[in-house]
Amino acid sequence: MESCIERLKDYIENITKITATPNMGCTRFSYSEEDRQVREYLMNEMKALNLSIKVDGVGNIRAKYIDNNEDKPSIMIGSHIDTVANGGKFDGLTGVVTALEVIRIIKENNVSLNNPLELIIFAEEEGSNFGTTMIGSKILTGAYNLEYLKTIKNDIGKTAYEVMKSFGLDVDNLEKSLLKKEEVKAMIELHVEQGGILDTEQIPIGIVQGIAGMKTYKVILNGVSNHAGSTPMKLRKDPMVGAAEIIIHMERVASERAFESTVATVGKIHCKPNGSNVIPGQIEFNVDIRDVEARGMDIVAKELVNKVEEVSRNRGLNYSIDLIGESDAVRLSSNVIDTIQQTALENKYSFKIMHSGAVHDAAMLSGMTDVGMIFVPSIKGLSHCEQELTKFEDIKLGCDLLLSSVIKLASE
Ligand SMILES: [Zn+2]
Repeated sequence: MESCIERLKDYIENITKITATPNMGCTRFSYSEEDRQVREYLMNEMKALNLSIKVDGVGNIRAKYIDNNEDKPSIMIGSHIDTVANGGKFDGLTGVVTALEVIRIIKENNVSLNNPLELIIFAEEEGSNFGTTMIGSKILTGAYNLEYLKTIKNDIGKTAYEVMKSFGLDVDNLEKSLLKKEEVKAMIELHVEQGGILDTEQIPIGIVQGIAGMKTYKVILNGVSNHAGSTPMKLRKDPMVGAAEIIIHMERVASERAFESTVATVGKIHCKPNGSNVIPGQIEFNVDIRDVEARGMDIVAKELVNKVEEVSRNRGLNYSIDLIGESDAVRLSSNVIDTIQQTALENKYSFKIMHSGAVHDAAMLSGMTDVGMIFVPSIKGLSHCEQELTKFEDIKLGCDLLLSSVIKLASE
């Protein structure tokens, strides 16, 4: 049994034609007219397979394939269909069409399974409407609630609640959308890598082990602004050189005192007043710390706080330091990882065990069930742009791996 490359290609090509920006990449926001058309297209395919379809209050589509095992927990597969503005063909959609193909093959071949399969399409993953990502999976798992949907707004000032309601969703009964632990046995999301590792190493499959967490700090250092010519070096309180010391220290700590997977970045910095002949009065910068190991992030964060305090004391600066954003690192299920890996070995697929620097819907479900992810290569690592490209041969291979892994998980 294997997937049909032509069908996968047709799905992706047909759906990509439905875009708000023809010839300028794929633009398909959740709750738009394009979204409505693609939902209709996909739900027709699901109906042809006799799946039982439910759309929840936030717009997640859940379609179940039941053989003779209705009461058992499902093996869930799927991803998202929304895009960023002028995005690519493959982000999200690849995971949806491969899931559909997996269910079709299992049904056509009358494969007998112990568990039902459930195709899931998460709504509003990209954050294109309201600036906050993964709303569908966060509502599904209870991380966001109805009240929150009434506070976030799109560019024209409409709340998420209003937008969903006018799209025809039953958003007032959102609690019915909550996923229950006993409904699902395992979840696998297939996704394009969106980085250049697999393409560079010419490996067609990535098996994801961990998804990096993130801590973002904002640091403000206040010194004394003064004349760059007439102020002797020893009389200065210069926050710029203080910031430089801290930034260098961040690089050293992330590369030497934490883990191989730990990264720290200062990519945003503001200097006041920002004149070449003026000693700055204030420097504000963000420190972005990421790791799949929570302890790696903690080590760097602690060093940051200590160093800011030490540098400010030594240089006579005032400072503030605030944690402005945070997400947890996620370890995916070793059971699911082992199943996927075993399947890849049996089929002699070349693969790499790797981490994901980007967060996905699958990560949201990891607190509730056993979660795994399969990556297929993004050519040159490009994503969220028109040039985004994944070879159909690689998508087919990923789909075949998903198929065999799902059959194993549903047969245990
Ligand atoms: Zn995506």
